[in-house]
Amino acid sequence: MSEDVFKKIVSHCKEYGFVFQSSEIYDGLSAVYDYGQMGVELKNNIKKYWWDSMVLLNENVVGIDSAIFMHPTIWKASGHVDAFNDPLIDNKDSKKRYRADVLIEDHLAKIDDKINKEVEKAAKRFGESFDEAMFRQTNPRVLENQQKRDEIHTRFAKALNDSNLEELRQIIIDCEIADPISGTRNWTDVRQFNLMFSTEMGSTTDGAMKVYLRPETAQGIFVNFLNVQKTGRMKIPFGIAQIGKAFRNEIVARQFIFRMREFEQMEMQFFVRPGEELEWFAKWKETRMKWHKALGFGDKKYRFHDHDKLAHYANAATDVEFEMPFGFKEVEGIHSRTDFDLSSHEEFSGKKIQYFDPELNKSYVPYVIETSIGVDRMFLSVMSASYCEEQLEGGESRVVLKLPPALAPIKLGVLPLVKKDGLPEKAREIIDNLKFDFKCQYDEKDSIGKRYRRQDAIGTPYCVTVDHQTLQDNTVTIRYRDTMEQERVAIDRLAGIIADKVSLKNLLKTIG
Ligand code: ATP
Repeated sequence: MSEDVFKKIVSHCKEYGFVFQSSEIYDGLSAVYDYGQMGVELKNNIKKYWWDSMVLLNENVVGIDSAIFMHPTIWKASGHVDAFNDPLIDNKDSKKRYRADVLIEDHLAKIDDKINKEVEKAAKRFGESFDEAMFRQTNPRVLENQQKRDEIHTRFAKALNDSNLEELRQIIIDCEIADPISGTRNWTDVRQFNLMFSTEMGSTTDGAMKVYLRPETAQGIFVNFLNVQKTGRMKIPFGIAQIGKAFRNEIVARQFIFRMREFEQMEMQFFVRPGEELEWFAKWKETRMKWHKALGFGDKKYRFHDHDKLAHYANAATDVEFEMPFGFKEVEGIHSRTDFDLSSHEEFSGKKIQYFDPELNKSYVPYVIETSIGVDRMFLSVMSASYCEEQLEGGESRVVLKLPPALAPIKLGVLPLVKKDGLPEKAREIIDNLKFDFKCQYDEKDSIGKRYRRQDAIGTPYCVTVDHQTLQDNTVTIRYRDTMEQERVAIDRLAGIIADKVSLKNLLKTIG
């Protein structure tokens, strides 16, 4: 897939009411987006899939909904005031701003691409007898690139770990990384930039307090650890899940809903005994990957990417990456956060935040495994994987969103063949019976073919056409989105046929 396809997905999102630029009539607000009538349904379905997979499938995971505003000291304790920074660099010619680490990561990805292309070429040439491992170990061009990559990577990881901004700049210079816009290598120094938004709470006369818009939902969970543990009588191990908005003043915000300044997270913090965290880390990695793969986009679209630089609080961390039109990108982070957050809140609040473990007969600060996924990035990955342009017989083509049926905004399109003879009334009657279970859409405008195309474009898995025969024998033609096959079925079978494919329950059963 290419950037070109990405552009098409972005315009498709707008054209069919999935995603709009925020404040569009005022020329937009950078990196802020609104979800339209289709987008909100898809987004809600994604959230429900996540939420149910956490709180229904796990007896020991419960949810909360904490406020966006929190006491400012929380962000001192969490380390965000001092360390939630990104290294930024400007190109003096284009005046564009970049994340220095992302420039280097992209450069590394390019070298990887070169290597992989070389391997693919050879695989084609040698056919079945191809030994990939051997080729990678012996081919001089691959070896040369691999060595170059490893050297840069080692320097990069060390610079990040040491927060060595000069070295980050030097890597950019040494790798001859040019600004994609101006094409020049005229770079400024690298500086740290704090990503938190702040505002004031209370009127100035009674002494306003500087508060932050939360940059992650996780802290709302940590500060409620005792509340939930005590009132819910939770026993370790247990988890707290939350879905909510987060805000980051991102330096580079040019990739549609991949990187936004206001976005939504689905986070789950799982509290465990100290010493057992890496076991749980491995378990949640597996559980979360299963959740992703169950959507059926193909296992090849996912990979884990272990972190080079561990955050100040983590002792293990990995990303679930998804193959977006612009390459493999992080959709979810899974982190072993140790007891950093709870201990830190103990220290800053002066309150004891511990768990008495009846089996061990002692109190301790629990360790935490976090799974943190962006709703919007998940949305983008679902859109990218579902968007499909198909050539049909007779020179026609269609754009179809092959959304997993459980996530599709509309489950059923109901189309009267003509706008008269009682067909519209019959169509409405079908909707009135099914509307309690499925979101249905009535459409009587234009030819049936055009109406099918419209439903294809928003990913509706089923359409039924009501015709004159329907009035006589209560049957309709049902048409399947992916195969475009049609068959005649009795109206009273519709609920069963549709439920079988679109039910979230069936999807959850594949992972639960
Ligand atoms: P990145 O390295 O891409 O900035 P991150 O590692 O800072 O992401 P986390 O802090 O681990 O991200 O946040 C968890 C998840 O929240 C990410 O995997 C991503 O899906 C989502 N997320 C983070 N920042 C944004 C953003 N600016 N816009 C949309 N989603 C985001």
